[in-house]
Amino acid sequence: MKPKILIIEDEEKFARFVEMELTYEGYEVSKAHHGRIGLEMAESGDYDLVLLDVMLPGLSGMEVLRRLRRTSSVPVIMLTARDSVMDKVSGLDSGADDYITKPFAIEELLARIRNVLRKAGPRTETRLLRAGEVALDPGSRQVTVCGEPVELTKREFDLLQYLMENKGIVLSRENILEKVWGYDFEGETNAVDVYIRFLRSKIDEAFGLKLISTVRGVGYVIRDEK
Ligand code: CA
Repeated sequence: MKPKILIIEDEEKFARFVEMELTYEGYEVSKAHHGRIGLEMAESGDYDLVLLDVMLPGLSGMEVLRRLRRTSSVPVIMLTARDSVMDKVSGLDSGADDYITKPFAIEELLARIRNVLRKAGPRTETRLLRAGEVALDPGSRQVTVCGEPVELTKREFDLLQYLMENKGIVLSRENILEKVWGYDFEGETNAVDVYIRFLRSKIDEAFGLKLISTVRGVGYVIRDEK
């Protein structure tokens, strides 16, 4: 999925230029030329990031940001027209994630966008985990085996994700319990073995694979099948 960026900027030529550059970089871009309309769009929750100009008709950029932050934590980069320390300080105080001063090199804007999106985390950047024929998407919490979706319970999914994140590393039962079940787990220590059995039946047995290996006396490991 392409990250979606909203540009709130009344200088239409400038907004169009930024839109072209961002589209070229693979982002999906929408524009608003008015503060109030921009605020409504930003509040929709449809965007991964908002580029917000400070000087806007209708509602100033600062005011848009203040109102937006009542309902939304969408990442915001402020576009400030002058190198004014006041704008930066009040922008960051009001909950902007970053700011950039016009005029700027498009490379600098792209770098800041990448940085803010990375910090914002999984909504925009989900990395797919793979092991052999198994693919796990931590963002959408979907698992496919040989391209076919497999239904897992929450615990089964968390266990599989933890094993896949540590592919090639043998994990002890204690370690798995602590990380997947949590520090305050006070049940049977064989819970791990029980859930490994569930996963094996849904993945290894169902698809004729050998994804999860037992290391005697130590624990479990997922390796890429050779
Ligand atoms: Ca402006």
